Amino acid sequence: MMQTLIDPFARPISYLRVSVTDRCDFRCTYCMAEHMQFLPKKDLLTLEELDRMCSTFIGLGVEKLRITGGEPLVRRDILTFFRAMSRHLDSGALKELTLTTNGSQLARFAGDLAAAGVRRVNVSLDTLDETKFAAITRWGRLPQVLEGIRAATAAGLKVKINAVALKGFNEEELFRLVDWCGGEGHELTFIEVMPMGEMGEELRLDQYWPLKDLRARLAERFTLVDLTDRSGGPARYVRLEQTGQKIGFITPLTHNFCESCNRVRLTCTGELYMCLGQEDMADLRAPLRASPDDAVLEAAIRAAIARKPKGHDFDYSRQRVEGQMTRHMSHTGG
Ligand code: SAM
Ligand code: SF4
Repeated sequence: MMQTLIDPFARPISYLRVSVTDRCDFRCTYCMAEHMQFLPKKDLLTLEELDRMCSTFIGLGVEKLRITGGEPLVRRDILTFFRAMSRHLDSGALKELTLTTNGSQLARFAGDLAAAGVRRVNVSLDTLDETKFAAITRWGRLPQVLEGIRAATAAGLKVKINAVALKGFNEEELFRLVDWCGGEGHELTFIEVMPMGEMGEELRLDQYWPLKDLRARLAERFTLVDLTDRSGGPARYVRLEQTGQKIGFITPLTHNFCESCNRVRLTCTGELYMCLGQEDMADLRAPLRASPDDAVLEAAIRAAIARKPKGHDFDYSRQRVEGQMTRHMSHTGG
């Protein structure tokens, strides 16, 4: 019997998030600069290497795989990878195969994703206003994303909307977003903006809308009932008594959720980040390419997990951005 992955703080590692590309067809202002220097293709893991990497993790007890990026659906032939992963769903080793997407390509892919065993997708959508959507994503167009969301629902996928809470941007749209998600039957989760990438301290603090303030605004209209389900992740949930809707809050900067962390993140070049908020990472591409024997890769994975830190150091509380990460979210995968 294979020994599963347990970190030094006795947390079982059962959840792998994989960034399959650093590229994207949008340029969200909080995520990327307009002119990004992307990685040379040769540095990326091939789809076969991604398969081997993910399959090794699954062999070590990973039960949930989330595919992200950059924009995962712009990676060439990505469906081949989803189809390949579905064999682990069939065997029962993998309990969930899912993705986080900006929705731009969903109209094209929703049916095939569902056929490959995907049951849920997270779609990032910060505003329902076409002009504001174009401004925040720079290159995105709202109707295309809404069409993608409709296609996903029609294909039987459960859609969860993720919205980054941005001061002075979607503050006024809080109830519109909540009402729209309620009407369409989508769960909604708000994310606090995180200090990723070198985008300037001032901009970050300007954009930062603490979710405790958002929550207080929500409570002006709804009765919020705290839910206890945590799913090992950073989100906390409430139910709106009046509508029955579930609303999530991801507050990496004001809450400490690290004690229940069950996840690690693999970049498209094969770097394993044991914590989103720390610089430490392990290169898994070298051991993967060094030998066709998975034992070498397995040993490297175990050594990395043995270094998983207790938690992150993000902190805005002293009105400066502490613990700022130099890498962009699209690098590690949100
Ligand atoms: N392109 C896909 C998408 O947008 O859903 C997947 C990758 S994207 C990096 C994953 C998530 O990270 C998105 O929900 C995005 O809004 C979020 N994100 C990006 N930069 C962020 C930041 N600085 N702070 C908080 N969330 C961020
Ligand atoms: Fe692209 Fe997602 Fe980053 Fe927006 S948040 S630029 S869609 S990777």
